[in-house]
Amino acid sequence: MIFSSKLIEDAVRAFAGLPGIGRKSALRMVLHLLKQEPEKVAEFTRAIAQMHQDIRYCSQCHNVSDAEVCSICSNPGRQRSQVCVVENLRDVIAIESTQQYSGLYHVLGGILSPLDGIGPEQLQIDSLVQRVREQGIQELIMALSPTIEGDTTAYYIARQLGDTPVTLTAIARGIAFGGELEYADEMTLARSIAKRLPMDSYMSLSKA
Ligand SMILES: [Zn+2]
Repeated sequence: MIFSSKLIEDAVRAFAGLPGIGRKSALRMVLHLLKQEPEKVAEFTRAIAQMHQDIRYCSQCHNVSDAEVCSICSNPGRQRSQVCVVENLRDVIAIESTQQYSGLYHVLGGILSPLDGIGPEQLQIDSLVQRVREQGIQELIMALSPTIEGDTTAYYIARQLGDTPVTLTAIARGIAFGGELEYADEMTLARSIAKRLPMDSYMSLSKA
C-alpha cells in the first residue's frame, strides 16, 4: 500500500476503475472529496446510488428513463411519425445535442455481431417492427455505425419490416466537419459523393 490509509486506497481504486480515469486523477478526486463537507459528499454518493437504483428503460424507445415512458417519447412537440434507429444511449445524446432532429428514437441496445454472439433476439428489433406496424410510423431513419455490422443490422431490420408501408432512410455518411478531403478514406469519399445533398440544405445546416 502506498497510502497510509486503506480507506483512501480503496476509494482511489474505486475511482480508478472508471473509464478514462488513471490513478493520479483518482487520487485528486478522492483528496478533493476528503476536503468537502459531509453533506456535500452524502449528496454525491446519493446521486450515484439513486441513479443506479431507479433508472429504467422507456417502454417505447428503450432509452434510459426516469419513468415508464421517457421525456422524449412523452414530449408532445416531437414528430411522432419519424423514428431514428440508433445503437445506444450515447447516439441519442449525440443526435439530441445537434438540435436538428425533432422525431422519436428507437434504441436497439447494440448491433448484430455474430462473432460476439449478438443476434436479433439480444436487440430491440421485434419491438421496433411492432412499433412501426402499430403506431403509424412513416419514416425510419437508420443512424447506425458505418460498419459491416451496422449495415447488416439495417438490412436485417428492413427485411423484417417486409412490405410494411414505411419509408426507410439512412443518415448521410460524409467527410467530418473540418476534415481535409484528401485524408478521407475512399469509402467515405465515395459515399459522400453518392449521397450528396442539395447545396441549400447544406448551407442551412452549417449556418445553424
Ligand atoms: Zn422513449
